[in-house]
Amino acid sequence: MSATQLHRDQIRDIVLTHAHLDHIAGLPLFIDDLFASLEAPIRVHASPEVIEIIERDVFNWNVYPSFSELKNQYGSVLEYKPFSIGNSFKARHLTITPSAVNHKVPTAGFVIDDGSSAIAITGDTAETDAFWPAISNVERLSAIFVECAFPDEMADLAAISHHLTPATLKIELSKFDRQNCPIYLINLKPMYCQQIAEEVAKLGIAGLSILEVGKVYEI
Ligand SMILES: [Zn+2]
Repeated sequence: MSATQLHRDQIRDIVLTHAHLDHIAGLPLFIDDLFASLEAPIRVHASPEVIEIIERDVFNWNVYPSFSELKNQYGSVLEYKPFSIGNSFKARHLTITPSAVNHKVPTAGFVIDDGSSAIAITGDTAETDAFWPAISNVERLSAIFVECAFPDEMADLAAISHHLTPATLKIELSKFDRQNCPIYLINLKPMYCQQIAEEVAKLGIAGLSILEVGKVYEI
């Protein structure tokens, strides 16, 4: 997470897909920066398994303070909101439905619905079977965000670390009827962005593109 001042002022709900460092690295300092000024706790939505991991391995006083034990002048600064796979929960105006995906650790993808449109996001995953049926019947699905971490020549590493490459992505996209919904690729390893982009272009799949970080998308 790279937070601007606007983010620091407005973000109070954080939803975690899983506990890998590239997905939680911003969380400790985000709470630390806001510690004295928080009038209500930051709500961290995560599965019980992910909460256990970050409590044991990050917020353990060795790596960083256990914020869930600390209070500022207003009260608690961190509140965990456990979710379970398949059960929708609310974060502000959003209804979020977690679905299991296939990564090295317990990981969730999500359907996120604001009442007028919905998006789906896989989180980190290798080939997966539960997620695609879960999004197939979502009404007003406007965009799907899918990981594609490695280029095809790194298929072995992708398999070991449970990530997709363009070739395995193509198989995943054949598992459901996307009904012309645009698909944006996310979580590309920065070193391989160009190579992945070239391989994705060769797939020739209409409506498939790589998400541009920092660009505002309207759906
Ligand atoms: Zn991961």
